[in-house]
Amino acid sequence: MRPTGKLHIGHFVGALENWVILQNEFESYHLIADYHVLTTSLNTNEIYDNSVEMLIDWLAVGLDPGKSPMFRQSQIKEHTELHLLFSMLVTAARLERNPTVKEQVRNLNIDNIIYGHLGYPILQSADILLYKGEAVPVGDDQVPHVEITREIARKFNSLYGNVFPEPEPKLTKFARLPGLDGDVKMSKSLNNTILLSDAPEIVNQKLKKAKTDPQKLRRNDPGRPEVCLVFTYHNKFNPSETEEIAEGCRSGALGCVDCKLKCAENINTFLVPIIEKRRSLEANLDFVKDVLSDGERKAKLVAESTMNEVHKAMKLG
Ligand code: AMP
Repeated sequence: MRPTGKLHIGHFVGALENWVILQNEFESYHLIADYHVLTTSLNTNEIYDNSVEMLIDWLAVGLDPGKSPMFRQSQIKEHTELHLLFSMLVTAARLERNPTVKEQVRNLNIDNIIYGHLGYPILQSADILLYKGEAVPVGDDQVPHVEITREIARKFNSLYGNVFPEPEPKLTKFARLPGLDGDVKMSKSLNNTILLSDAPEIVNQKLKKAKTDPQKLRRNDPGRPEVCLVFTYHNKFNPSETEEIAEGCRSGALGCVDCKLKCAENINTFLVPIIEKRRSLEANLDFVKDVLSDGERKAKLVAESTMNEVHKAMKLG
């Protein structure tokens, strides 16, 4: 995950929720992609602070540093070496066809794509395969990158012998949470997010402005829950009432204002314990920094061992 600052509920629904479950079933590795973040901004002043903010969010939603290491990509130099070796195994045409990079370039209004942006999935392949990842819990925007990772693993293994597994993406039911403006993806760069750290009054305000079914102009107009993003949020954060809400929306008995209030209430019920945990972590930053250095020590050992295998397989040194 890239350290872009405080995380939003899309990150939780698409990825973090799965991480929390999977940490009990798999040997897991949680990577702060602080090189990848350079593809969207070359300003490095905030990368460290953003990494710490993100780590606090991870811990606040229930990731357990005792179960799996959490670490920064930039501190494990093996990522860069494996990235270089992998970059020889993919054609430029294959990378240019990647729909996720095309979408990012469109969203960020980039005129001239940098080499590093095109190579984003190669670095991600190194991130995954350095730890011999077999399952990659991501949102559906990342599935094309996992496919490239599989191709790289296959190519490497066929050239130099069996070193890497071919990983599978592990998606959640809500692999892409829409943004408050109705865009298909909640995303910091689109400024359409609810943060995991947003206080109840902020959530209320943000939801008030959320886009709903454009055909439901007045309270009593019949609405279409299937095209309303507030209904998608109800589906996730208020599952026990969705039928009732859908019925009320369709018949016109439930207006958008009340529907949004109910939705905000449920999102706040979910967020309040996270905000409380966050507060106690913010008061104990030494602990958070220890999590990082401990994670980096553990990840480094695994990364070194994989690179030894790679060197041996490729007869490098
Ligand atoms: P990124 O911020 O692009 O590094 O994304 C980190 C992880 O969160 C990836 O697994 C994404 O697929 C996931 N993610 C980010 N935004 C959303 C969203 N709106 N809905 C679902 N998953 C998301």
